[in-house]
Amino acid sequence: MRIELTEVHGVFNWVWDIPKNEDRLDESMADEDEDVCGICRASYHAPCPNCRYPGESCAIVLGRCGHNFHVHCISRWVDTPTSKGLCPMCRQKFQLLQRTKINEPHIPLFKEIEIKRYRQLQEEIEAGNYDALEEANIPPREDVEMASA
Ligand SMILES: [Zn+2]
Ligand SMILES: [Zn+2]
Ligand SMILES: [Zn+2]
Repeated sequence: MRIELTEVHGVFNWVWDIPKNEDRLDESMADEDEDVCGICRASYHAPCPNCRYPGESCAIVLGRCGHNFHVHCISRWVDTPTSKGLCPMCRQKFQLLQRTKINEPHIPLFKEIEIKRYRQLQEEIEAGNYDALEEANIPPREDVEMASA
């Protein structure tokens, strides 16, 4: 018997290799939410609703709090003033998990958003809106020092 191969369909299964990391505040939370982006509710091994292909072009970021998101979803979220820079799942300040390869390419983007947020806050205070300071949920000084240590 001779078999002639006329067509080959490649089937690839893409998954992110998400490291276990003791720096995460609540690892159990990450397990519970399975592999779903907390914003668009799609699996983060698949692309976000605005992208067609998974992988580098629609990457994910790992939050220090234990929640993971598509970078497109979470960066848009933390960039809105109403988010106050908080994780939409647990309402802790959203910070990228440090020393994590997946997060590395996105550090500048999140720094930029943070700087923008502080600048907007400064404008509010200069305009006399002191409530903004409280609403902005700036972490207490010890937290800031711990984060930069
Ligand atoms: Zn998403
Ligand atoms: Zn995307
Ligand atoms: Zn969270």
